[in-house]
Amino acid sequence: MSRETILVVEDEKNIAELVKYNLEKEGFRVLTSSKGNTGLEQAQKEKPALVILDLMLPELDGLEICKILKQNYQTAHIPILMLTAKCEEVDRLLGFELGADDYVSKPFSPRELVARVKAVLRRKSDRSAEKVFRIGSLELDTAKHVVLLKGKPIELTTKEYDLLNALLDADGRALSRGFLLEKVWGYDRSLEIETRTVDMHIGQLRKKLKLESNRILTIKNVGYRFIIEY
Ligand code: CA
Repeated sequence: MSRETILVVEDEKNIAELVKYNLEKEGFRVLTSSKGNTGLEQAQKEKPALVILDLMLPELDGLEICKILKQNYQTAHIPILMLTAKCEEVDRLLGFELGADDYVSKPFSPRELVARVKAVLRRKSDRSAEKVFRIGSLELDTAKHVVLLKGKPIELTTKEYDLLNALLDADGRALSRGFLLEKVWGYDRSLEIETRTVDMHIGQLRKKLKLESNRILTIKNVGYRFIIEY
């Protein structure tokens, strides 16, 4: 079994060392970064299994890094565990809803942190059955979180990726706009919501899928269907 990589972005050297030591003892491969900008680059390049991110960092702070990683579909799936020093920071974090998966307040015990890391990773693996869809010249790999067209990666936003994933996962069945709103945007189906949002994103997705765009079929008064045959 390959060891899972964890990236620790923390400018306080003794804390970074302590975290690294304890995670390595548990069998993880650990990378560290002491600055925000280099931490972000490492996360994008290495695509670790999890990022432990300190809130206050030189160059680029943890909130910014979290936002950038969660907005790009190639890194949005990486769980983020934030380290925070003060209670107010926790409020700020939750208030911003930046999509951090969990947070731990300083000072923390290494044992607590390791337990949290394992819990976040376990939740993640329960959630994502890893799949590869290959249809025509299109390929979507849920483990690597990449979409290829004729073997070349294409740039999708997180919503476009989720939308495509939902359509492919339906295995040729038609999906209603309501279903897609709930699945991709997390909206309650009983709410009156502009379904135009779905149509707009489908439009963008079609543009990016180029030669495979005809596979997304509009089903009148229903929603959309992804043609997997032909
Ligand atoms: Ca710090």
